[in-house]
Amino acid sequence: METDIERAGRLILASKYVVGLTGAGVSVESGIRPFRGPGGLWTEYGEPPMDGYQRFLANPKADWEQRLKPGGYRRELFETLEVAEPNPAHNALAELEELGILRYLITQNMDNLHRAAGSKKVAEIHGNFSKLRCIQCSSRYERGEISLETLPPHCPRCGGMIKADTVMFGEPIPLDVLRICEEETSQSDCMLLVGTSAFVYPAAGFPQEVKRRGGALIEVDPYETGLTPVCNISLRGKAGEMLPRLLDCIKVKLHRGEAEPPI
Ligand SMILES: [Zn+2]
Repeated sequence: METDIERAGRLILASKYVVGLTGAGVSVESGIRPFRGPGGLWTEYGEPPMDGYQRFLANPKADWEQRLKPGGYRRELFETLEVAEPNPAHNALAELEELGILRYLITQNMDNLHRAAGSKKVAEIHGNFSKLRCIQCSSRYERGEISLETLPPHCPRCGGMIKADTVMFGEPIPLDVLRICEEETSQSDCMLLVGTSAFVYPAAGFPQEVKRRGGALIEVDPYETGLTPVCNISLRGKAGEMLPRLLDCIKVKLHRGEAEPPI
C-alpha cells in the first residue's frame, strides 16, 4: 500500500509549481524557541508591545541602543540566533529547490537558516535578523556594511533611516516581499506547509488562495493544525525527519523515471 510519504511525493511530482511555506516549527528543530505557546519566549518574558514600530519611529535612537544591548527575550533570542545551524528540514528544502522541484520558499522565520542551508529563492515575510533595511527605499544591507557610530544609521543610497530588517509589531510587511509572496502563490498548484499553522496573516492567506484555485496542500507537522482539515495530505512527524524521507522518495521516483525531471 502506498504510504503518505509516497502519495506526497507523487503529488509533488505531478504538480507544476510547488511553493513552500515554513514557520516556527522548522526553527524549533534548530533549537530556536518559538515566541508563543508552551516554552515560548513571550510566554516566559511577556509579549512585546503591539506598537513596536510606532515606538521605533518615535525614538529610533533609543530603540537602536536597546537592540545593541538587548535584554529580556531579545537577548536570549539574539544569542540563540547567532549560533543556530540549519537542520535536516532546511537542507531537504534547499535540495528540493536545487532539483527544480521547489520553485519558491515563503518563510515566517527570520533566522536566516533557509539561506544558510542553501535556499536561494526565499521570501522572508518577517524579515531576516542578520540584515538591516532602509525604511525609505527598502535596500537591504548586511549588518557589517552599515556603521553604527551614529544612531539611527542612515541609508548610503537614499539617506533614509535604517532599522533591523526584522518586521516589528505594527510595521507593515515590506511591499517587495509581499508582492513576491502573492506572485508565487498565484502560480502555485501545490503548497508544502512545514511547521506552520499559518494562523497569522498574511501567511494564512497563501494556502487558502492555492486551495481556492483548486491546488493541493501538503502539510508536515507533528501535530494537527488549523489547516489540517483542508490539506490533501498531512505528514505527521518532525520536519527534520519527514522532509528528508520525502526528498528520498522523490529522488527514487525521478531515478526510476516515474516522473520527468522538472528542469
Ligand atoms: Zn534607502
